Amino acid sequence: MDRKRFLKYLGSLSLGGTIMKLKDLYQTTSTWKNTHQMPALFLGHGSPMNAIEENEFVRGFRSVSKELPAPRAILCISAHWETRGTYVTAMEQPRTIHDFGGFPQALYEVDYPAPGSPELAKKIKTLVSEANVDLDYQWGLDHGAWSVIKHLYPTAEVPVIQMSLDRSKPPQYHYELGQELAPLRRKGVLIVGSGNLVHNLRMVAWDKLNTPDFGFDWALEAREKMNEYISTGRHDYLIHYESQGRSFQLAIPTPEHYLPMLYTLALQEEGEEVNLFNDKAVGGAITMTSLKIE
Ligand code: ZN
Repeated sequence: MDRKRFLKYLGSLSLGGTIMKLKDLYQTTSTWKNTHQMPALFLGHGSPMNAIEENEFVRGFRSVSKELPAPRAILCISAHWETRGTYVTAMEQPRTIHDFGGFPQALYEVDYPAPGSPELAKKIKTLVSEANVDLDYQWGLDHGAWSVIKHLYPTAEVPVIQMSLDRSKPPQYHYELGQELAPLRRKGVLIVGSGNLVHNLRMVAWDKLNTPDFGFDWALEAREKMNEYISTGRHDYLIHYESQGRSFQLAIPTPEHYLPMLYTLALQEEGEEVNLFNDKAVGGAITMTSLKIE
């Protein structure tokens, strides 16, 4: 296009909306170059003590992190940030939130000083069309995010933002919102769901926390079915978990620790594999099962 034609073309862009859209397109395509497709993760976080303990689960997180391409930023969907409406953290420097009680002082002293990414937060707001995503300047990084991400990236140099779980919405909504995030994987964004697939704190056998892979019958049954549905691509069964019988009802008494997995699963594309790791039960009523999609 010569200069004269280009000026004419610019002159034709008189509608504000069109100019805005072109501007967004320009920002999306120019400032964040395309990358290879980033893997996507769901991490079973379990006890906050995993943040400072040395055990097989944190070794699992570390070994997975070694296989990951370097991300430009991390988007974490954590079980521990529930809101009405969907928010993304947009501050430059998120604080480390110690959102638990009754743990040793050492856990309250953990600081994970990863920067935020207001740019990514705004990009997500523009990208998502189905939901209204609002920017948040109050939250930060809760332990669902930092207790696991610190094992992936101990130096806290990769920017991290969080997206909240809208507690008023059904599982299908969360799955579809996850699908809308897919283009970020080609912009170098590592998407990490953080929760636990089986998570029933009321039924935990506190005296069996140190018994390796101890799960009650219903927990083991739920784990086996979930793993089968994940591995065979039965996403419909996993979205409609409420109709999967007694073992699922006991495994998922409230949805917040389960839903982050739907965000990760929703990112699986044709031909991509799901690999399970840390697939162990803890205290009878929790599973640490984690997924890597690539
Ligand atoms: Zn939790």
